[in-house]
Amino acid sequence: MARPIQSTMQEVPLTITDIFRRAASLFSASQVVTFEGDTSRRADFSEVTERVTRLAAGLRYLGVKPGDRVGTFCWNHQEHLEAYFAVPLLGAVLHTLNVRLSPAQLAHVINSGGDRVVIVDAGLTPLLAAIRSQLTTVEKVVVVGRADTSGLGAVVDYDELLKSSTPLRTLPVLDERQPAAMCHTSGTTGDPRGIVYSHRSVWLHSLAMIANFAFNEHDRIGLMVPMFHVNGWGKPYAAFMCGADLLLPERFLQPQPLLAFVAAERPTIVVGVPTIFQGLLTAAQAAGTELDFIRLGICGGAAVPTTLMQAYQPWFPLIQAWGMTETSPLGMVALPPRGVIEGDSSYWYYRSKTGRPVAGVEVRLIGDSGTPLPWDGKTVGEVEVRGPWVASSHLGGVGRDRFHDGWLRTGDVGTVDELGYVQITDRTKDIIKSGGEWISSLELENQLLAHPAVLDAAVVGIPDERWGERPLVVLAFRPGQSVDPEDLRQFLIGKVPSFWLPESWAVVLAIPKTPVGKQDKKALRQLQVEGRFEVQRLVRVEAVWADRLRGPKGGR
Ligand code: ADP
Repeated sequence: MARPIQSTMQEVPLTITDIFRRAASLFSASQVVTFEGDTSRRADFSEVTERVTRLAAGLRYLGVKPGDRVGTFCWNHQEHLEAYFAVPLLGAVLHTLNVRLSPAQLAHVINSGGDRVVIVDAGLTPLLAAIRSQLTTVEKVVVVGRADTSGLGAVVDYDELLKSSTPLRTLPVLDERQPAAMCHTSGTTGDPRGIVYSHRSVWLHSLAMIANFAFNEHDRIGLMVPMFHVNGWGKPYAAFMCGADLLLPERFLQPQPLLAFVAAERPTIVVGVPTIFQGLLTAAQAAGTELDFIRLGICGGAAVPTTLMQAYQPWFPLIQAWGMTETSPLGMVALPPRGVIEGDSSYWYYRSKTGRPVAGVEVRLIGDSGTPLPWDGKTVGEVEVRGPWVASSHLGGVGRDRFHDGWLRTGDVGTVDELGYVQITDRTKDIIKSGGEWISSLELENQLLAHPAVLDAAVVGIPDERWGERPLVVLAFRPGQSVDPEDLRQFLIGKVPSFWLPESWAVVLAIPKTPVGKQDKKALRQLQVEGRFEVQRLVRVEAVWADRLRGPKGGR
């Protein structure tokens, strides 16, 4: 009988230190560019990596030890990036803090993270000062730039810290499983929950980014998502791993300055949520700026309207991706299957899907009873995922109900088709159940956004005596345009099942957004309950439903 054999492969730990060393030794000429509103400042990787070792030494001098948490309360810039590396290289944990949280949420997030040091942008010091007395674990505050630091107690100047520190030449040997970075969800559907990434998960996720989008040394990645959101979607680590330039727009994510930055720096890749891409598109069209130097746009964080992807198509493919804070975030990407090319009738069908799981991530669809559902493109259930960069728990053991059987319950409901394409139709908390059947708010929004006068559309469920819930459409029109909701309802006929056709419509100037630019449906529902919308009722529900009542499931 043949003797059992063992793998002959090495077990090299997968750490951020490895990513850092690659960047320092192989890609010294790649750049980090920070926008400052009018001009940009730039530093190459050799300078940035040297500064990282100074920051690491400085933080160690301030008392940061392995396992300690260092918060960053910063926009997208070079110093923030330096902390992305310096903190984990010490074996400490980077805790990116969302600059748009409410004061109470911010205090809660810093305290539950147990941050000992917080690095803060000069412009954000008042927000931190306002809650300083509630922070129970913070010992040192490091300020990036010149600021009024009253209310913060003794502070350390970031540049001084670097100047007075000798580069840390010997980096500690780390275990790939140890915590490296931490992020809280943006709290779209509840209180922010903490996720702790390991060195290994960051390393593998970076490689997945590179593999899926072919990131390489010739790329310039425009990071239009805040670096406090899911490690800047993992792009900074991926860029350092492959030597791509990183273009950081600081706090200038508004359409005009963002366009100026993009036009000046000519990224080959841009990354953002749909709201940011919508703003950039409007600004580029108004200015007559061609964005054809970009080779790829990566859009996610919320459903990406088909019309938005189509508007960008003459310049570059704006690809839909799906992810969560819990999934590092890359989970799915919507590229058409083999054999389907642009011009084919199913091309946009596949491009509009939420996506197929990337290598390393598994997906399953689970029904109410907790059992797997078929992949037939019709059966609706909750999407669950697992993989080496997917969370297995939340910080502090909260939200245990979000995990089962080694899988993460995403809280997203939808379908999976025979080829594994997932279509998210809603988040569980946003589901509209009408007469026992689901109405997809995301699909209704997608269809409404195809109307040329509609700038933004959000659909939420409102209580209905007869049907349990019915959809309420909240619309924002493009400047100078408006359409009678009755005409919009007509526009939807034939595009969605007739029982979805909304009777309740409201027009607002702008749909409220969460800190990372997603539609804030919690806020919308609250505004509706408070009677802050003027809701126009178009037709009697019964009339809309008449054809359905005559159908096979009629008579309910
Ligand atoms: P929060 O839960 O506070 O919004 P996350 O950033 O972790 O914080 O949000 C993850 C959620 O964003 C997903 O569960 C999903 O509902 C939504 N999402 C992300 N990408 C997409 C997409 N392409 N289509 C639809 N929804 C998406």
